[in-house]
Amino acid sequence: MNMDNTKGKERGMNFLIQPKKYKSLMADEGSRAIMDKTIAFFEAMGKERLLEDFHKKTWYREFVEFIGREQIFAKLLTPKEYAGDDPDARWDTARNNEYSELLAFYGLGYWYCFQVSILGLGPIWMSPNEKEKQRAARLLKEGAIFAFGLSERDHGADIYSTETTLTPKGDGTYLANGEKYYIGNGNEAEMVSTLGKVDDGTGDYTFFVTNFRHKAYELKKNVVSHQQYVSNFALHDYPITEEDILSRGQHAWDSVLNTVNIGKFNIGPASIGITEHCFYEAITHASNRVLYGAYVTDMPHVRKNFMDAWLRLVAMKMYQRRATDYFRGANENDRRYLLYNPTSKMKVTLQSEDIINLLWDVIAAKGFEKDTYFFTGTSEVRGPSKLEGTVHVNVQLIRKFMRNYFFNPAEYAPVAPDFSLNDDLFVFNQGPARGLGKVRFHDYRPVFDAFRDLPNVATFIEQIDIFKELLEKAGPDEAQDRDPSWSLPLGEMFSIVVYGQLILEQAQLDGTDPAIINQVFDFMVRDFAHFALQIYGNHSSRDEQREYCSRIMLIKAVPDTEQYNAVWNKYVSVLDGEYEMNK
Ligand SMILES: Cc1cc2nc3c(=O)[nH]c(=O)nc-3n(C[C@H](O)[C@H](O)[C@H](O)COP(=O)(O)OP(=O)(O)OC[C@H]3O[C@@H](n4cnc5c(N)ncnc54)[C@H](O)[C@@H]3O)c2cc1C
Repeated sequence: MNMDNTKGKERGMNFLIQPKKYKSLMADEGSRAIMDKTIAFFEAMGKERLLEDFHKKTWYREFVEFIGREQIFAKLLTPKEYAGDDPDARWDTARNNEYSELLAFYGLGYWYCFQVSILGLGPIWMSPNEKEKQRAARLLKEGAIFAFGLSERDHGADIYSTETTLTPKGDGTYLANGEKYYIGNGNEAEMVSTLGKVDDGTGDYTFFVTNFRHKAYELKKNVVSHQQYVSNFALHDYPITEEDILSRGQHAWDSVLNTVNIGKFNIGPASIGITEHCFYEAITHASNRVLYGAYVTDMPHVRKNFMDAWLRLVAMKMYQRRATDYFRGANENDRRYLLYNPTSKMKVTLQSEDIINLLWDVIAAKGFEKDTYFFTGTSEVRGPSKLEGTVHVNVQLIRKFMRNYFFNPAEYAPVAPDFSLNDDLFVFNQGPARGLGKVRFHDYRPVFDAFRDLPNVATFIEQIDIFKELLEKAGPDEAQDRDPSWSLPLGEMFSIVVYGQLILEQAQLDGTDPAIINQVFDFMVRDFAHFALQIYGNHSSRDEQREYCSRIMLIKAVPDTEQYNAVWNKYVSVLDGEYEMNK
């Protein structure tokens, strides 16, 4: 593991990515070349063409050719063991996150092609089927894209109800039948990891590989109106042999959940990328617009929106960066990522929606214009929170960790920033997806204490202490626990504590300007109070619970006008004109 965090520090100074002055977090030339070539590809395409393709919903053929020609997915998505002599190939979560952010900066559709390839490859790299792994590696080299065939139209998050079947023919082969819905890349994926149940009385889950070229694979339609292809396909007596089967029974089930664990961690960076590009356009527009003889950005509420947006964006990036270290460092005795990944999924994605709202309130009509990236951002930004499990699903998931997080901390060796060139092989060996209640966490308090001298961190600590007391002395009863309208805001409050913890850990590593951190915790305090109000207003809340909620709600962030203005002047207002995509 690389203990050196200079890469993070170097880039941390800039906070937002700037493609024209791009600083990769990656140490190796091969990875930097991937980022640089991708920027060059999009900047050469230019904004007019990028947006025209978006509006005309043109399938990104040239992009798919580009990633094939430059071996980009082959390098990013092939573990070393299967990569032959390519020195740049590895499965590196930090690098994949960085690449996702960059792709989404230019368009969520491009990111989606990468995302669903990641998902499609999950059950393959998790499989004991060596032949299919070798085939995937070869196809990656040939420039293939991949797909994850899990969802069915009528069942949504309820995977238990999967209807696709694999029926044994009696000669050791099978026929697959069923219909899949919402399957990205299903129009061109060379390998579609498809989930079904074996119709032999066992009802075992199984992952098997299908291909869009086969005549028994009916590509019905693109279910969305977009340049990305989110397919509905049907299998009609599609012949499957043992060689096509990736996994069966418990292994197949675990592969579903463990693949989603990988995929859901790759969504936050997409939200970050969208928001960054929108931020540049918004601040450049507003800073140069004069109304009633004054700059729009001189209006206090406008400035506040930009400050809030920028601080939220910086916090998203800090959380995601730190959570990456935990995912890369995970092993069978350290599964803390099972909390940090869904927290990224629900929190980072929802924060980006808030940011676009804040920015759109300022740039108003400009945000509708078809020659802005911003318009694409407004239509895309609400997607990420709904993929790989909705916010509800992820909040319910993280609630399982709440008891151990607050009341049963464990000792762990410190996890250093990890920019190593290692393969993250544990992600394909996560083991059984059960036993979540047994995962333990390091004590959250020391890092908060280390920042206690910042008034808003101290205020937040006060709120956490009351929240913890609420859990201890007036926790949800069984009915409230079962009622998501009660338990969801509780889970949201928990997520803000986890979010704050990792942000502070990253601030420690980067030596982030304390003024920024204090201002970040200004919005954290407000957000925490917001969810306390939701519990307060819930009809089933008891008086004692309301009492705790009122105490949390009535705590306000500590103002510091001088610091606020300093952050605005030093970091935010200077982004006016900082980046404009080539025409
Ligand atoms: C653009 C797009 C691309 C996609 N790409 C793929 C793909 O490539 N491959 C693939 O397999 N799938 C894909 N999906 C499907 C996606 O994963 C599903 O949309 C998602 O699983 C949720 O299903 P649903 O939208 O039908 O919601 P539903 O499952 O019908 O949910 C309905 C409501 O119930 C709530 N809910 C459901 N379960 C729970 C729970 N356990 N706890 C609390 N609340 C719950 C939800 O939050 C929601 O509010 C894609 C979807 C879209 C829109």
